[in-house]
Amino acid sequence: MDNNKLLEIKNLVVQYESDDSVVHAVNGVNLSFRSGETVGLVGETGAGKTTIARSILRILPSPQAEVVSGEILFEGEDLLKLSEKEMRKIRGNKIAMIFQDPMTALNPIERVGDQIAEAISLHNRVTPAEAEERAIKMLEMVGIPGSRYSEYPHQFSGGMKQRVVIAMALACKPELLLADEPTTALDVTIQAQVLELMKALKKQLNSCVLMITHDLGVVASICDSVAVIYAGEIVEYGSLADIFDYASHPYTKGLFASLPKLNSKERRLKPIKGLMPDPTNLPKGCSFCERCGYAKDICREKKPETIEMSPGHYVKCFLIEEVQNG
Ligand code: SF4
Repeated sequence: MDNNKLLEIKNLVVQYESDDSVVHAVNGVNLSFRSGETVGLVGETGAGKTTIARSILRILPSPQAEVVSGEILFEGEDLLKLSEKEMRKIRGNKIAMIFQDPMTALNPIERVGDQIAEAISLHNRVTPAEAEERAIKMLEMVGIPGSRYSEYPHQFSGGMKQRVVIAMALACKPELLLADEPTTALDVTIQAQVLELMKALKKQLNSCVLMITHDLGVVASICDSVAVIYAGEIVEYGSLADIFDYASHPYTKGLFASLPKLNSKERRLKPIKGLMPDPTNLPKGCSFCERCGYAKDICREKKPETIEMSPGHYVKCFLIEEVQNG
């Protein structure tokens, strides 16, 4: 294994099965994270972002979800092969997750400080007093006075609750933090505060972050590299500059074209026409072909391979030269 790689996902395929259909949620994803790096995973609702994060932590709904194939190597070990007991030592400790809605992530009838202290006690040999002391420090680290340790979630605003969730996730200084749309449920000013806080804490703890979002503004403010996901496949991957300055896949270009621009005289936004394909019935060829303005017969017949456009910048498209010239 490359020593710089903290986590490496190889050819991950995940499906959800019901009595009469199979949802192809993640279709051959490859992704790696270097220590200290923040990777943005960007895509529409239903593209497979949360399923990837849940696969890493092995908290997919059972028995409906199944990891059909692939490897998730964390510090060289395949998480998919570990026993449940071994996974419990990693979850919340070496790998932690921040969920989208802080209200459902917190227990409404437990004091917030106790919820953080519980996470600390689970993974460390500490006395209750030491756990409480560390929990107070964590609260202060995220900008909440330690004196609020004994309060309940309903006594906090939305932004403050998300800070508590962040404190809980970071309590054991995880090496990898999975942040699933951590600011989506917050209003814009609080969003900015929470992002600033995450940036500062990440620097302090040198954690690696997977930032799941559909918001390119969030990506621009916090990520080092970006993976664009469409219908369960990474269609473009590169550094922040690769994606923002040299977006190459027609879907990525479409995402940027649909954003409002301050200096544009255009009165209407340009949305990407159509919808993502039905995940129970994906197209035979390129999964974006029904919405792509460049599509040709080959796109409907075959799946495009990933090509490296420039060092570290990867795109999955047959007609990349045409797209660039167009
Ligand atoms: Fe569009 Fe074809 Fe490229 Fe798919 S492979 S994104 S359909 S041009």
